[in-house]
Amino acid sequence: MKRPAQLILTITDQCNHGCRMCYYHSSLNRRTKVMTLEEYQKLSDELDELELLLISGGEPFLRQDIAEVIQIFYRSNQTRSVFIPTNGSTPDRIISTVSQMLDLMPELQLTLMMSLEGLHEEHDAIHEQKDAFNSVVETTRRLTLLRAHRQSQGKQGFSVLLNSVVSNENADRIIPLMEYAKEHLYVDTHTFTPMRGEGPTPDCRAPTPAQFESLQKQAQPYFQHYLAKEPAALKHILDRYGLWMGLLRGEGLPFQCQAGHYIGVIEPDAKVRLCELTPVIGDLRASEFNFERVWNSDEANELRQQLIGCSCTHACFINASQRYYSLQDQ
Ligand code: SF4
Ligand code: SF4
Repeated sequence: MKRPAQLILTITDQCNHGCRMCYYHSSLNRRTKVMTLEEYQKLSDELDELELLLISGGEPFLRQDIAEVIQIFYRSNQTRSVFIPTNGSTPDRIISTVSQMLDLMPELQLTLMMSLEGLHEEHDAIHEQKDAFNSVVETTRRLTLLRAHRQSQGKQGFSVLLNSVVSNENADRIIPLMEYAKEHLYVDTHTFTPMRGEGPTPDCRAPTPAQFESLQKQAQPYFQHYLAKEPAALKHILDRYGLWMGLLRGEGLPFQCQAGHYIGVIEPDAKVRLCELTPVIGDLRASEFNFERVWNSDEANELRQQLIGCSCTHACFINASQRYYSLQDQ
């Protein structure tokens, strides 16, 4: 079994929001003994080249040494593409950390994805955090200004995306949100994804196929707004919505998910999973950071067998699987 080419690195379980759609809610703020920089270096030494790191949390920017964590993989595994989702709650820290990362790693292709689920009080209510909307708007504006400033100096830029997680509770409020973002926030694109897993309350659920289909139809002008000059990216997004609608209707994935093959997950406490929605397969600390032993254990291989034909809407794993199959076609 080859080592993964992409990793989801959940670097902290700390989060200052309490989102109604958070599938990770039961693992948050547990005072976990998170992996140290030395431990990340040991993990990195065990891996081959990593084409993509998906940094996750909790809220990733609550970890002070996020830049140093990424730098380990940048140096040792030639990782150049890094994706960080954030709730945008700490504008000063995010701006200074992003500047630091780009200065430390001049070839870094960084993508920041801001989480925006509603307008004003609606977003605050969904995130259960006062002023959350104002913070994410401020962070987004300052990031786009930072990018413009860096590019005016001939330095590398970075991508700023917005994503809105859609549940049964905000499905009919996404289009006004997209309109606001188009007029007021100068991001590269604004997408929305169906809520996955289960949140802290059963009242908040994934949207129905009809809700998601209606939303996807109404969102076409916004996709055109952002991506009209990038036909391949536009086609990719439209195909993705087609895939999600099929999944919400109960149709399976049209390919075998590559979780546990092309992509894997490292939890903040050094536990390893094949994907974020399946059980832990082993503990790097207990295995003296022998990644191979954990990744190829009998338990891991048994779970891989059980996941044949598995389906879900998780974008990271769909992206990784599509990347894997595109490489096979070359
Ligand atoms: S969805 Fe993200 S921001 Fe919201 S509670 Fe979960 S980890 Fe925190
Ligand atoms: S389809 Fe989803 S739940 Fe199944 S293995 Fe892939 S990521 Fe995990």
